[in-house]
Amino acid sequence: MPKVTGRAMQVSVAGGAFELVQKEFPEPGPGQVRIRVQACGVCHSDSLTKQGLWPGIQYPRVPGHEVAGVLDAVGPDVPLFKVGQRVGLGWHGGHCNYCAPCRRGDFVLCENGPISGISFDGGYADYVMAPANALALIPDELADADAAPLLCAGITTFNSLRNSGARPGDTVAILGIGGLGHLAVQYAAKSGYRTVAIARGQDKGPLAKQLGAHIYIDSTAQKPAEELQKLGGAVVILSTVTHAGALAAAVGGLGPNGKLIINGVPEKPLEVMAAQLIGKRQSIVGWPSGTGMDSEDTLNFSALTGVRPMIETYPLEQAEQAFERMMSGKARFRVVLTIGK
Ligand SMILES: [Zn+2]
Ligand SMILES: [Zn+2]
Repeated sequence: MPKVTGRAMQVSVAGGAFELVQKEFPEPGPGQVRIRVQACGVCHSDSLTKQGLWPGIQYPRVPGHEVAGVLDAVGPDVPLFKVGQRVGLGWHGGHCNYCAPCRRGDFVLCENGPISGISFDGGYADYVMAPANALALIPDELADADAAPLLCAGITTFNSLRNSGARPGDTVAILGIGGLGHLAVQYAAKSGYRTVAIARGQDKGPLAKQLGAHIYIDSTAQKPAEELQKLGGAVVILSTVTHAGALAAAVGGLGPNGKLIINGVPEKPLEVMAAQLIGKRQSIVGWPSGTGMDSEDTLNFSALTGVRPMIETYPLEQAEQAFERMMSGKARFRVVLTIGK
């Protein structure tokens, strides 16, 4: 397993452009693997690396935390994985095993956990060096370009919903039909929830239905909170939007014990009247992505039920255009770099 050379699209300074470079990828150390990347999703959180918004990033850095590939080399002390296996790597880039959350088995909240594409070089490259304890196995049914977005946008929504306490038949509303939302609607419907999709404009209605929504609410023509109350109130509202006002307005659509789960980061602080939360014992919570095993569950569920992302693909060298397309908010719905031959 000698070192290899490959391409990478790296950022040399915060706010700088992507540069195509040839890099060496070493033999993996203990507990580490080398992945030959086949596809990597372009996520809005990659702007943290590109624009230097995450504190303490060391440059040059290669972004990318939706990595689908093949194990190219496996270091010592990696009992589970073998060369040739298809694996995925998401935001969760491993965990330390000794901090308090790790000692409680809550690896996602690891206080020392590296983040793929931020703490170490990510998937905008031919190869990625990664900790083995961050990996997910990719089932045969999923193509690399489809698996990639599921490793961040997919796992975040799937893991939020499956841990929400909602049960089959419960009313679950998805706020926003975009990169996260179009997956969340599919997961909600396939999980057996009475699935309500909320977005702006009549034109999104047919798409929402196609994704599996039972009910569509056009928030430009109807008041989502009122419409949800007509349905008895939502057990869960999963928000994928960044408009703080739309998020706060949706709280009124929660039923008794209802929960608003936030996946998308609002651009402003939320303004919510707390009285309604108290009276109906409601809550507002955030949810991060999940571990490698959570990713694997997400991929397996997607393979089992036919959940797939809608994607636009670009070759690795066009990472700049791919990134701009993602940032424009116009992509339908996830942008993916196709890298392997
Ligand atoms: Zn992401
Ligand atoms: Zn830890």
